[in-house]
Amino acid sequence: MSADRPDRKILLSESEMPTQWYNIVPDLPAPPPSALHPGTLEPAGPADFEPLFPMALIMQEVSMDRYIDIPDEVLDVYRMWRPSPMYRALGLERALDTPARIYYKYEGVSPAGSHKPNTAVAQAYYNKVEGVKKLTTETGAGQWGTALAFACALFDLECEVWQVRSSYDQKPYRRAMIETFGGVIHPSPSDLTEAGRAVLAANPGSPGSLGIAISEAVEMAAPNPEVKYALGSVLNHVLMHQTIIGEEALLQLAKVGETPDVLVGCTGGGSNFGGLAFPFMREKMAGNMNPRVLAVEPAACPSLTRGVYSYDFGDTAGTTPLMKMHTLGHQFVPDPIHAGGLRYHGMAPLISHIYELGMMDAIAINQNECFDSGVQFARTEGIVPAPEPTHALAGTVRQALEAKEAGEERVILTALCGHGHLDMAAYDCYFAGEMIDYEFPEEKVQDAMTRIPAV
Ligand SMILES: *Cc1c(COP(=O)(O)O)cnc(C)c1O
Repeated sequence: MSADRPDRKILLSESEMPTQWYNIVPDLPAPPPSALHPGTLEPAGPADFEPLFPMALIMQEVSMDRYIDIPDEVLDVYRMWRPSPMYRALGLERALDTPARIYYKYEGVSPAGSHKPNTAVAQAYYNKVEGVKKLTTETGAGQWGTALAFACALFDLECEVWQVRSSYDQKPYRRAMIETFGGVIHPSPSDLTEAGRAVLAANPGSPGSLGIAISEAVEMAAPNPEVKYALGSVLNHVLMHQTIIGEEALLQLAKVGETPDVLVGCTGGGSNFGGLAFPFMREKMAGNMNPRVLAVEPAACPSLTRGVYSYDFGDTAGTTPLMKMHTLGHQFVPDPIHAGGLRYHGMAPLISHIYELGMMDAIAINQNECFDSGVQFARTEGIVPAPEPTHALAGTVRQALEAKEAGEERVILTALCGHGHLDMAAYDCYFAGEMIDYEFPEEKVQDAMTRIPAV
């Protein structure tokens, strides 16, 4: 890096791409609490997950190996878009007139336009190897459904997707993209499942939620051994697959001789955040750097900052194993904010545990402030961010302005986990001045809390 003109792009060649995922669990000062069987409340074993997931992924879920080799078939697909670029946000820095140096790792270059294919490709591969014919799943904004449909197309699997109703209506182009990749898509709640019919009976106009859509996809997969279910976030193996982001980012920052002072990411279920942060946390635990790690969640769905840390179900119908996590209650239906991918009642158990260990911080930000930052970012960096990472950008802008106030050269790294090309209706709403900052409905959550299972 020349002192007077820093590079905008920090790139890795294909041969520099990391070939292992990182599992943070064995490095943590305390082990995360295990999942529980919903009936017996005993620790859930591999057999409890077998109706839903292939054995290779179940073993990854409970693995104590620090590194897991990425299969050649998966690396081969990753090379379609990986290593992903890192950028120095010179334009944004200038606009903010900040002494901070801002870097962002951009995952929008993937075929789905987000980080989700990093795990979708791995999950499709392991299912294919074990003879599975079809994967079912839920999707919010449609990013995960798109990623899984893409991955299933490559490994010749069928793909059936339940999309949260409010997003299904707001984002018709994601639906078309899922169909382009060969997926079949239904709005959720649907009348195809018992779980969906129960919700519709109680509330015919239900906007849906990720929890409801998960119940539907799980219900369709569980009874049939040739059909498995794929989850796009939350679980340990998903977060582990996403560590390719952080491993690449470490190499990229090293290329320009930087170590981060703060990492900022958005959290829905926690996968892009964990994927970026875990390799840096490893370096921090080893004493090689000391970044602050900061999660940003929507004020309308603040599981880390306002939820309780408790055993709860992953889905609305209460059929999944119980996981100890920060939760707003499995029956909480968040307001229909535009960041559909962040509307989940719980947080990844691994992120929740790490938060409880005091290894990271979290804040919640309203969507208008997020879009303020997203638009400023688009006008200075040339990329229109998805609504979800506008939360990370709002956190980044706050950090950069704080650094300016303090006259401090802060190095900020954030994950720009997806582009917003199929989310322009959200921008329309923002420019029309019609974007609502939802008050967090404490009453609704208190009510939902009464139905959190007593463990
Ligand atoms: C799915 C999604 C998210 C939320 O999921 P995490 O597991 O928290 O990463 C955030 N951003 C984008 C672009 C997504 O597609």
